Amino acid sequence: MTERLDVYWRMLGYLRPYGKQVTLGYLGGFFAMSLNLFVPQIIKDAIDNGLMNRQASALFYAGGLILGIAVIRGVAGFAQRYYGEWMSHRVAFDLRNDFYKSVQRLPFAFHDKAQTGDLMSRATSDITESERFIGIGLESLISTLVLLFGVIIAMLLESVDLALYTLPSLVLLVIATVRFGGTVRPMFKKIQEQMGQLSSTMQESMTGIRLVKSFAREPHELKKFDEQNELWFERRFSVIKVWASNWPLFSILLGSAIFILLWFGGPRALAGEITVGSLFALISYVLMLNGPVQRLGFLVNLAATAGSSAERVFEIIDTPIEVEDSANAVELDAVKGEVTFEKVGFRYGERGALILDDINFRAAPGQTIALIGPTGSGKSTVTNLIPRFYDPSQGRICIDGHDIRHVTLDSLRRQIGIVLQDPFLFGLTIAENIAYGHPDATPEQIMDAAKAARAHKFILDFPNGYETAVGERGVTLSGGQKQRVAIARALLYDPRILILDDSTSSVDTETEHLIQEALKVLMQGRTTFIIAQRLLTLKNADQILVLDGGCIVQRGSHDELLAVDGLYRTIYDLQLKDQEEFADTVSRLDDSQDGDPPSQPERRPAAVTGR
Ligand code: ATP
Ligand code: MG
Repeated sequence: MTERLDVYWRMLGYLRPYGKQVTLGYLGGFFAMSLNLFVPQIIKDAIDNGLMNRQASALFYAGGLILGIAVIRGVAGFAQRYYGEWMSHRVAFDLRNDFYKSVQRLPFAFHDKAQTGDLMSRATSDITESERFIGIGLESLISTLVLLFGVIIAMLLESVDLALYTLPSLVLLVIATVRFGGTVRPMFKKIQEQMGQLSSTMQESMTGIRLVKSFAREPHELKKFDEQNELWFERRFSVIKVWASNWPLFSILLGSAIFILLWFGGPRALAGEITVGSLFALISYVLMLNGPVQRLGFLVNLAATAGSSAERVFEIIDTPIEVEDSANAVELDAVKGEVTFEKVGFRYGERGALILDDINFRAAPGQTIALIGPTGSGKSTVTNLIPRFYDPSQGRICIDGHDIRHVTLDSLRRQIGIVLQDPFLFGLTIAENIAYGHPDATPEQIMDAAKAARAHKFILDFPNGYETAVGERGVTLSGGQKQRVAIARALLYDPRILILDDSTSSVDTETEHLIQEALKVLMQGRTTFIIAQRLLTLKNADQILVLDGGCIVQRGSHDELLAVDGLYRTIYDLQLKDQEEFADTVSRLDDSQDGDPPSQPERRPAAVTGR
């Protein structure tokens, strides 16, 4: 229960900066509601003085008062609506900002498990549910409660014993509404969770649409979605069932209050113990509750949804940042690029198996370190530790002698460029994609980087050249083209340390040759870690680390490793040998074709040679 209240309390915290709007909105709501309480009194006067005593002036007077109240209520209602909506959207704005900030700072490990669709659903539907309550919902709830208590007090003032007769029905009404809220709240949590599930399913099959189509699995995907959608409807419907079945109870309780008033009050009015106007006023008060009590059901409903939605939003906001700047972190600037691993051990999560064990090596500035080993041997994991996507569980990693845990993340990552096998491009222009890590690059710098990355030529072939927009996930570019754009992006970023996944498998020989040339330019003068699949890369590497089961089992140059029996020789025999012939073909191709500019170091863009 306290935990539940905490969520609401925390939501209210979002209103704190907006004192003025909150005051005006709530005062507006309070006035609009409580002025209603005077209307039965005015009509009572009109009946008792105007109608019974045949005084037309009393009727006019009452009419004028009611009109006046309507005007004031109009103004108050305006303030209530205006500031209520303002608060809703302002809170949603702040909440969304907080949420997005947290998502950007979430640890890598979180994304290993999280589903994008579920995150999206929290960012949209859950925030909407929360905002509706914090703004309009809570304020209506409060003014409705004010009205409820106002009605009870007004009735007591009118006639204590008649009011007391009806009180049990009214109290039952409140209890029923509150109980209803308690029943539906957990149900709403389930609905929102299912919404997250539904979004995930949709997002997954949209992202994987090519796979779906190529395996002709559309019917399966549809069925999967249908089932999730059906489940969502069932959960939503079960709340409606509870709501609808509580409905008659609400109506009966109200009806019985009126029945009691007429049963006990009618004879008294006839006997002249109370005035007709008084009886009318009492009945009006009870009737006045009809709308607000209906709304109370709705508002309790809203509060319940908002509570569970806000919980889902706060869950993300509260996810701890696993990799964080230490208190006395220093800026790492202008490094030479020496990277050392000292007795590094690593496991994913607290209790996972040891994925890396006792990894030791030193990469001198400017060296190329090739990583090779069977699948699952830990190559990607080694590269993930350098930019601190994860922290090692044992040992330490140093850059230029600085333990990377003691430098700021920003300054660390500023030194590291990454080119992955399937690079991601944003839905921006090609020029903007190249300049992603260096947004104030001049068009010349962008073009120089593209030239060095052997991308200039194909970019100019597009109708809009560098201003060509790239579709979502870069669908208009081929794999090889995307990769060269990514290389240009890394060139422009100009990091001292590079991480490359060199497993370009699905490109033709010519493209591959161009990529190799682009990589050569990129790697020049930078400490490079390259997950190598290619013989040429391995031959050119200063050091090859052969990984197996998370350990370095061999190290040395290509020739040294080939000279001894071991895993490297086995891999060479099984996979790499064939590439010897292939390499010959490529070098012949190199001589005969007139491709993009050749890989002369002096062609490197100014921005790249800078540091
Ligand atoms: P490949 O050549 O297939 O890319 P790799 O050498 O890069 O393989 P890693 O990706 O480093 O291998 O994985 C090493 C081990 O860590 C594997 O057993 C894998 O199952 C595990 N692993 C990788 N990523 C995670 C993760 N995010 N959470 C838990 N375990 C993981
Ligand atoms: Mg890998």
